[in-house]
Amino acid sequence: MLKQYPFALKTPFRPGALPGDPTSVSGLWFIFSREKVLVQMIDRDSLAVSARSPESLGLPAAFTRYLGRHGTIDCFVAELAEPADGCEAPPGMQFRSLRSLFGATDEDIFSLAGRALQIIHWHREHHFCGRCGTAMVDRSAELARECPNCSLISHPRLSPAVIMAVVREDKILLAHSPRFPEDMYSTLAGFVEPGETLEEAVGREVWEETGIDVDNIRYVASQPWPFPHSLMIGFSARYAGGEIRIDDKEIDAAGWFGVHELPLLPSKVSIARLLIDNFITTQTGKKA
Ligand SMILES: [Zn+2]
Repeated sequence: MLKQYPFALKTPFRPGALPGDPTSVSGLWFIFSREKVLVQMIDRDSLAVSARSPESLGLPAAFTRYLGRHGTIDCFVAELAEPADGCEAPPGMQFRSLRSLFGATDEDIFSLAGRALQIIHWHREHHFCGRCGTAMVDRSAELARECPNCSLISHPRLSPAVIMAVVREDKILLAHSPRFPEDMYSTLAGFVEPGETLEEAVGREVWEETGIDVDNIRYVASQPWPFPHSLMIGFSARYAGGEIRIDDKEIDAAGWFGVHELPLLPSKVSIARLLIDNFITTQTGKKA
């Protein structure tokens, strides 16, 4: 069981192939219209994904696929074929952004919805073979598409990114991105480049963005981040030298923050906050 690890599903999940026609089966349906998922309103603060297939709701699906079994429940993903003005949700249901599910559904359902959205993104972007241009077809036995002409196989795309809490004595290095709200600071992060180890990526990102050298790089946790297909790999690192010099491209401010002078922090939806909370816990001895 992996449920003690952050961001891991609490109930076991078995991906796999389901024989037969998924449109006729009930279970949990992650039904997307563009980037939004169809949910049922339970009450003001609580949502559930559809227990019914698009077909049984009268919604035309362009793509359906079995996702796997969550505990004893079969899960499916579907992308709706929509008119130009978008699909209308059935009565009592809404299309909601994935982020708005966080805190309003079970954590596992939020994670599975992210998994479903990544599969939709991949499927949407791999209609044709990247080598010969022939239309790709789904493989039934695995989550992959195959070119019937040249046999090229495409698996869902994942982009690994490192994210790190850099600590200098009793302070943590946080940075402000132009994309953030004005007062919000977060940990540094960046994509892994071809040929790099994860530790090299941590050292390079911190140095490129802030001019700081680090050592004692230690893995902490990982988080799938379906916006659109990242895998965030979280580390802690120790300050080893240098003074802050910001690159002005990805970030526009950075600084060292003690536990009693922290700025506005990212929400608990992201691993950035877990890394910062770990720092707070280490400094105060209290769970953040
Ligand atoms: Zn091909």
